[in-house]
Formats: sequence, structure tokens, C-alpha cells
Amino acid sequence: MNEHDSERMLALLEECGYQETVRWEEADVILVNTCTVREKPEQKAYSILGRFQQLKEQNPDVIIGITGCVAQQRGAELLARMPTLDFVLGPGKIHTLPEILRDVQQGIRGICSVGFENGYPTDLTIPSSQRLRAYVTIMQGCDNFCSYCIVPSVRGRERSRPSNEVLAEIDALVQRGTKEVMLLGQNVNSYAKHNPGELTFHQLLAKIDAIPGLERIRFTTSHPKDLTEELIEAFGRLEHLCEHFHLPFQAGSNAVLEKMNRGYTREKYLTQIRRLREVTPQISITADVMVGFPGEGDDDFTQTLELVQEVEFDGLFSFKYSPRKGTRAAQWRDDCTLEVKQRRLAILQELQREITLRKNKRLEGTVKEVLVEGRSRNSPHRMMGRTRCNRIVNIPGGSEILGELVTVKIDEGLQNSLRGERCR
Ligand code: SAM
Ligand code: SF4
Repeated sequence: MNEHDSERMLALLEECGYQETVRWEEADVILVNTCTVREKPEQKAYSILGRFQQLKEQNPDVIIGITGCVAQQRGAELLARMPTLDFVLGPGKIHTLPEILRDVQQGIRGICSVGFENGYPTDLTIPSSQRLRAYVTIMQGCDNFCSYCIVPSVRGRERSRPSNEVLAEIDALVQRGTKEVMLLGQNVNSYAKHNPGELTFHQLLAKIDAIPGLERIRFTTSHPKDLTEELIEAFGRLEHLCEHFHLPFQAGSNAVLEKMNRGYTREKYLTQIRRLREVTPQISITADVMVGFPGEGDDDFTQTLELVQEVEFDGLFSFKYSPRKGTRAAQWRDDCTLEVKQRRLAILQELQREITLRKNKRLEGTVKEVLVEGRSRNSPHRMMGRTRCNRIVNIPGGSEILGELVTVKIDEGLQNSLRGERCR
């Protein structure tokens, strides 16, 4: 979501006549787009901004702004704390960026544009450049209030975008060369729950699937409590819906899940995974999980490990619990020490590394469809793409196959990627 917000801001800046640079010494405007889900990324943002102090002293004309969820959460207090900043811009006010820049250029400093408009913003700028893979926001905000999570406070309550706008945006993207869309929302499977008469999420997927020229559809994130049978069955039915499901489980213990206010049990989660694999045996499943939540004992953590062993995820994003001010869990004692959190995280990540490698090795000798996205990071003579199951594959070739869907025989499964050869 933050990447997409960055793209939207870049598109607005391009409309104002700016060009992207990779060297901040030559930038006229610097935006630090931030995340506040955990404390570490928030601290990282402050440290990056601290480094710009010297830049500002050397070049007082450079405009520096903080954007994203830290901006929304801390608001004007950031201006007092960091004199380097010209403005603070929350994620619900991205469309005000051109106006803010005009004001700053006229000498107005200390602007704070945060909060949310009523209804859904209609100006979700589509980046003008051709994009092979594009993000498309279908909803913003979240109503779930998981006890550890700051998102509902910094992204606001759930608002779904009208389906006709979503479809029109995807149509326009496809006309400009997009082959794959990633639908974005904090909880996409509750899409339009507040909009009577609107399509449901699986109905929206079916309409998107019928857009001529679109090759691949992905979405993130889903919540197990809102996962419907119709959505599970959509994987067996819709030609362009990729066989990858990101379904965060957060914890393997029912006691912890309840304290997290997640609204499902370990058993329900496991039943959903079984059902997804019944309908689509080749589906790849990834998830988010946390360790060290308040009250998480050794037994609870063992249940998380057992769940990971049982499901054999294709990938796992794992985090140490980090108390966020304003959430319910922040009122409870953070009773797992940093040492315990680190140890649990290391055990979990080691287990997942073994599973990922084992599963990647199992793919050796199989044939996969790969969408070629760009040059391989490891070799100038190789290109990189992804399978429908979202695995990275490196294959021999050059820019002549960029953007192509190619058929690849997998030769080698590695820890983070696959290697293969194009089939003739
Ligand atoms: N909406 C998504 C969901 O419900 O799964 C995820 C949103 S959140 C931005 C991404 C991930 O960050 C979560 O799935 C969770 O694992 C992690 N996370 C959220 N709050 C956290 C916290 N206070 N400490 C550590 N990890 C956290
Ligand atoms: Fe946060 Fe829970 Fe909403 Fe996901 S569903 S954004 S974890 S409150």
C-alpha cells in the first residue's frame, strides 16, 4: 500500500513538472513516505530525516516533507520536533500535494495536511508511465481493530471504492500495457460491505477476469474471518486469478488469537487452508505472523510452530510484536522480553527457511508460466519473472522477452528463487 502511495505521489509530482532522481543531493523535493505499523520503521524514518538536516543547511531551497502513517499519527508535532520539515502530509490527503508544494514555494512553511475526506477520494491518480504490473486500490482503511494494530487509526475506517471506478481504472491500465494487477486493501474480502447493491469481492474478481488483455490478477490482504466459500471457489473458476493466497494467521494459539481480537480460531484457519488446497491443489499460501504478543507463553509459541509445520507455507512474513500507542494491546504489559522475541523469531524463521527451500526443490523438473518483469539482479545475461504462484524465476535472455509470458522448465530450486530454461 505504501509503495502504491509512493507511486501516486510520484505521478502527481510528474504532473507538476518534476522528474525522479536517484540522488537526493540533486533533488528539489524530498518526500519520506513512512510506516508506523511497528516501532522500527518509524525510528528509521526519523533517522533518514535527521540525515537531511545537513542537506537543508547547504541548500535551504530543497523542500522536505514527511508522508504516510507516521505523518498521519504524529501530525503537527513533527514540525516542532524536526525543523528540517516543510510539511506533513497524511495518506488520506495525498491529492493535496501539488497545492502544498505551491504554498511552500511561496514561502509558507509548516503545513500539516492530515485526516480523511468523507467518502472515497476519486482522484486516485494512475501513474502515466506504462506499467507491466500495477497496483489498484479497491478499498482504504480498516474496521477490524485487531488489538495490536494501529492501521484503523492511521488509515481511517473502511471505505470501498465503487466497482465501476475500479473496472475503469483497470481497463485504462490494460490499454497502456498492464498485464497484471494487484488489488489492494487491508481486508479485501470484506469489499463493499458498507455499500448495499454493490458487487461483492468475488463478483468484482469475476468482472475483472473478463477484461480483455489482462493476464493476471492478484490481491492482498485477506482476513480469515471474512473468507467466503465463493472466494475459495473463484480460484478454481477464474482463468486469470493467480494461484496465490496471502492469508495472515498472526498466531497459532486460540488464547492469543482471542486476545488479538482476530475473530477466528486455529481450527477454522486450518479448515480454510485445506479447502483452498482441495479447490486449487497447486495454490501457494503465504501469511503474516507475530511472536511475543503480551501473554504469549512457550506453549502458545509451540502451537505457532506446529501450525507452520502443518500448513507448510510457501512464504512467511514474521514480526516481533511491537506495542503501538493508542491500541488496546499497548495497555497490556509487554511481558515477552526482547531476547525471548528474538529467539522465537529466529526459530520460526529457520523453520520457514527449511520449508521454503524444500518446496522450491520440489518444483525442479516442473513447467511454469512466467511473466518476465525485468533484469535479474544476479546476472546481466538473465531476466527475472514470476510464476502464477508468485515465485521468482531467473531465466536466460535479454530485454526482447520483457513483458512476455513465457513457458519455463524449472532446473533448480534455491532459497529465495528458482532457475529455469525457456521451453521451445
Ligand atoms: N490487514 C492485514 C491483516 O489483517 O493481516 C495486515 C496489515 S499490517 C499493516 C501487516 C502486518 O504487520 C500484520 O499482518 C501483522 O503481522 C504485522 N503487525 C501489525 N501490527 C503489529 C505490531 N503492533 N507489532 C508487530 N507486528 C505488527
Ligand atoms: Fe490491522 Fe487487523 Fe485491520 Fe489488518 S485487519 S489492518 S491487522 S486491524
